[in-house]
Amino acid sequence: MYNEVRETAKHWLEKGRIDCFIGFSRRVDGSVIPVRITDPADADKLFFGHGCVHNLMSFIKLDDDERTGILLKGCDGRTMVQLIAEGELDRDRISVLGIVCPGLEEDGKLLLKCALCRTNTPPDYDELIHPDGVEIRDNAIEDEELSSIEQLSRAERFKFFMKHFNKCIRCYACRDVCPLCYCRECVTEKSSPQWVEVSIKPSSNAYWNLIRAYHLAGRCVNCGECDRACPVGIPLRILNRKLANIVEEFFEYVPGTSPEITPAMLDFREEDEHQVHGTEKS
Ligand code: SF4
Ligand code: SF4
Repeated sequence: MYNEVRETAKHWLEKGRIDCFIGFSRRVDGSVIPVRITDPADADKLFFGHGCVHNLMSFIKLDDDERTGILLKGCDGRTMVQLIAEGELDRDRISVLGIVCPGLEEDGKLLLKCALCRTNTPPDYDELIHPDGVEIRDNAIEDEELSSIEQLSRAERFKFFMKHFNKCIRCYACRDVCPLCYCRECVTEKSSPQWVEVSIKPSSNAYWNLIRAYHLAGRCVNCGECDRACPVGIPLRILNRKLANIVEEFFEYVPGTSPEITPAMLDFREEDEHQVHGTEKS
């Protein structure tokens, strides 16, 4: 698989189609890291296989006109489409080498984010690598983890999430790794007014985690990176997926599927029902 990645990146760089290519490389110890190459001779360092878990869209410079080639799995491809739909990225400067992702393993186990993935192929690409025997998939998944939380009472759910939020050390790795957390100034850094208290305590931790989840509602593409980056194991994925389901149910909107559809949170229709989830219509 990675030979096709190397050949395409090399060809694009040699022909001057792109200024750089963002992909993965495997180190001598077997670990995989994202890399950005500009020299066609470096294309031989590129790799694709187990361990290529990062969402490479996190490494695209949004405020730039660099012509960038990039390798995108399904979840990363949805991220690109969402950024275009939000008006943050110019598709013309990106050359996409898509890959039908076979599902990735770490330590011999399928990653949770791959087990929960609904689209293994980027919705938009310039060229596509389709490994033998890997089916193109685009279907909702059985989400037993979320269902089990939904079955809890309101008090039990509150206890479950507060137990996790209490562990938060406010390192902001979840924000920093997320390609859709691109605000120039994060709400956590505003001091006038101060929206989120700096100190680590249950109330401010809960506020931070909830405010972030709401800011990603109808935008999160379920790439799983925030969940993977959290050093204390807070299951951010559960909140993300719950909010995604609510937005899909109410607005029939699935982020990252089409650059032509206005994202739910940027759209306003006078005929919309003025209903708040979980309350009576007012
Ligand atoms: S919120 Fe998490 S899962 Fe969603 S796009 Fe951002 S990093 Fe990916
Ligand atoms: S990555 Fe985890 S510990 Fe760090 S701020 Fe986010 S939720 Fe808190």
